[in-house]
Amino acid sequence: MKTITLREGKERSVIRRHPWIFQGSVAKGRADSGETVRVEAHDGRFLAWGAFSPTSQIRVRAWTFDEAERIDAAFFQRRIAQALLLRSRLAIASDGVRLIHGEADGLPGLIVDRYGDLLSAQFLSTGMERWKDVIADALLAATGCRCLYERSDSNVRQLEGLPLVSGWLRRPDDVPETATTVTIREHDYRLTLDVAEGHKTGYYLDQRDNRKYFADLVRQLGAKSVLNCYSYTGGFSVAALAGGAEEVYSVDSSGPALARATAHVALNGFDPARHTALDADVNGTLRRFLAEGKRFDAIVLDPPKFAASAAHADRASRAYKDINRLGLKLLNPGGMLLTFSCSGGISAELFHKIVAGAGIDAGVDGYLVRRLEAAPDHPTTIAFPEGEYLKGLVIVQK
Ligand code: SAH
Repeated sequence: MKTITLREGKERSVIRRHPWIFQGSVAKGRADSGETVRVEAHDGRFLAWGAFSPTSQIRVRAWTFDEAERIDAAFFQRRIAQALLLRSRLAIASDGVRLIHGEADGLPGLIVDRYGDLLSAQFLSTGMERWKDVIADALLAATGCRCLYERSDSNVRQLEGLPLVSGWLRRPDDVPETATTVTIREHDYRLTLDVAEGHKTGYYLDQRDNRKYFADLVRQLGAKSVLNCYSYTGGFSVAALAGGAEEVYSVDSSGPALARATAHVALNGFDPARHTALDADVNGTLRRFLAEGKRFDAIVLDPPKFAASAAHADRASRAYKDINRLGLKLLNPGGMLLTFSCSGGISAELFHKIVAGAGIDAGVDGYLVRRLEAAPDHPTTIAFPEGEYLKGLVIVQK
């Protein structure tokens, strides 16, 4: 077993059970990609067992802080069982569920979503790559699912020195290769997705409860015209229609996502004449609506991650401020803005400040009705606060 020895003083975060050990904290020791290593303090004290990553800034991701625990198939079975137990105890109003949420579930770099009977997974760290087959078998055994699709085509794999791959990891002979489309039921709606073609693992489950909350607010506030920006496959648009909206726009730069949004309107029994899909850049579309004097009772802004890390927070802040300023200006009196950031590098406090600044610039005041976060199957833990990424604000114009 290879040993990684930390510099003096660098053991503190590991003692507090933080799972990441950065390159700068390592005094000596090397191992192969994904190999299990023993992490020690400078004085030889045991700190953790972890997976080594030769190229990443995060040199070791801790598996466990218990010296007696072995990293073997049974270890992964236990971690998966614990993650599934949490989900089974939460009343999740969908058959689309995030089963494994990386570090929060003690499985750094592993994302697993269940869509009906299909599992879709991202293996994003060297440790996960090394144990992929063991994990795939454990996931099928624990869930009773027979199919697992791999979407390890995220760029973060490159930081780990891993190739981008996607395709079936487990598929019995009677399931055709092309069976990558699923229909899930989320709250009161039905939604389709394709695990091979969709973003990430296929869909954005983290916004599940916020979509439902939006439907409720649209109804409560009597919003009739709704603009859903960065709509992807129209989850918030379907919610708006369910809430009684009469005119809904979905704006996204992905044609296939918009085609699915259009199909979702019909699938849920809503009048297609109430929905318009706009294949366009959001920023330009907001400016065009403003110039044309078009206004909305409710606007959703759910952009992709503008800040890859805290280092990009400045530029991202300007981009967030700009769309929020435009969004606030486009509201009818008493209108509502649901605005999100999924950048880990932008804290909830900073996001609040950015949106407040946008309000000042727009000359719009509003009530902050609620703060929003990811659905509870995307948990944050005490030991790993960095896991908190999605934050949202609900603002109702004064
Ligand atoms: N709200 C969605 C998820 C949004 S994900 C849901 O509930 O499912 C972010 C979306 O923004 C992606 O679909 C991506 O295609 C889109 N996007 C990224 N940049 C864009 C831009 N400049 N203009 C329009 N859409 C953009």
